[in-house]
Amino acid sequence: MDKIKMTTPIVEMDGDEMTRILWAMIKKDLLEPFIDLKTEYYDLGLEHRNETNDQVTIDSANATKKYKVAVKCATITPNAARMKEYDLKEMWKSPNGTIRAILDGTVFRAPIVVKGIEPNVKSWKAPIAIARHAYGDVYKGVEMKIPGAGKVELVYTAENGTQTKEVVHEFDGPGIVQGLHNVNKSIESFARSCFNYALDTKQDLWFSTKDTISKKYDHTFKDIFQEIYDAEYKGKFEAAGIEYFYTLIDDAVARVMKSEGGFIWACKNYDGDVMSDMISSAFGSLAMMTSVLVSPEGYYEYEAAHGTVQRHYYKHLKGEETSTNSVATIFAWTGALRKRGEMDGNQELMAFADKLEKATLDTIEAGEMTKDLALITTIENPTVLNSKEFIKAIASRL
Ligand code: NAD
Repeated sequence: MDKIKMTTPIVEMDGDEMTRILWAMIKKDLLEPFIDLKTEYYDLGLEHRNETNDQVTIDSANATKKYKVAVKCATITPNAARMKEYDLKEMWKSPNGTIRAILDGTVFRAPIVVKGIEPNVKSWKAPIAIARHAYGDVYKGVEMKIPGAGKVELVYTAENGTQTKEVVHEFDGPGIVQGLHNVNKSIESFARSCFNYALDTKQDLWFSTKDTISKKYDHTFKDIFQEIYDAEYKGKFEAAGIEYFYTLIDDAVARVMKSEGGFIWACKNYDGDVMSDMISSAFGSLAMMTSVLVSPEGYYEYEAAHGTVQRHYYKHLKGEETSTNSVATIFAWTGALRKRGEMDGNQELMAFADKLEKATLDTIEAGEMTKDLALITTIENPTVLNSKEFIKAIASRL
């Protein structure tokens, strides 16, 4: 059998712990036997990040600008315990944060829907993707504890020295205060990423904030989305037969619960953080959630939404069997291969991505799955497979 050829490489970002083990298995059993795999490899494993003073993370993000498509394995974000465990020179920043800052994108998360793993919300028939704005608001907030009576003001000092003031509150006792910000440029790129992703995936786009209460802050988000939509996307959406609509976040929540799914829900940073966990758990499992970073320039970085599955890795190191779910990592690869195929006009590569996804879902629907799914499936007497057996079962269907 001739292997599928690739013309342009995909940027491959390897990672840590159990997902690094799965990564190698996926390549060996599911990709390399079928594709003449062309990747530019970056080792984002914590040891190599430490050796390169994290330069490798920056290099991999810049390579993504060059090749436009990347696939990333889950990576450790160091904390105090990891400093000790890996004897780190510094508490290196989250690789995802570094990559996002360089590519300036929006993260879209969507559950992988499969028969036998039923959503907790009965009306949901198709996945709901969450688009989370990844800059500012409470994540870049400044806070103060107010010890006692006194006045708190917001002061803007323009470059020419003129000042504008707004009283936040006249305290008559202890309290708390928080200052948040965002910048129009980031909101604009968030909006464009959402509109592009909706066109890409041919799904309606919903956007919600609390603009009735936040008449300047949230209202600016609403206005920027509407202006960009009217000026740049209205015609394209009409041609694609999809819709953009804005609604108040309370209304959005109520509608989401009664919907059939099959749309993208764009959220501000905090709302997206909370809602994406709600959506992923209600659809079944964190291990069945894909994630893609889409930059306004059209760069795509695919990954699984979950972490490195540390607990399983320690079992693996002890020589014990693990039953780690590789579905989201497989779908990160298929997402990247399909996008590469689309950009290069490589039909065979796109068709392979579809086949691999189908083989993965067929395996689960045939009752062969990892333990996390076996615990929640509606399929009777599922066969619980270990990490390796599950990947082999998919390979045998390819
Ligand atoms: P995790 O996602 O690895 O695990 C959370 C829980 O979900 C665990 O109970 C785990 O057993 C279960 N789980 C997750 N994925 C699974 C899978 N594929 N199969 C079976 N069970 C699965 O998150 P964590 O434990 O909070 O973090 C572990 C490490 O991952 C940390 O060092 C963290 O920094 C890192 N992390 C990385 C990313 C990323 O690279 N995108 C995201 C989150 C966490």
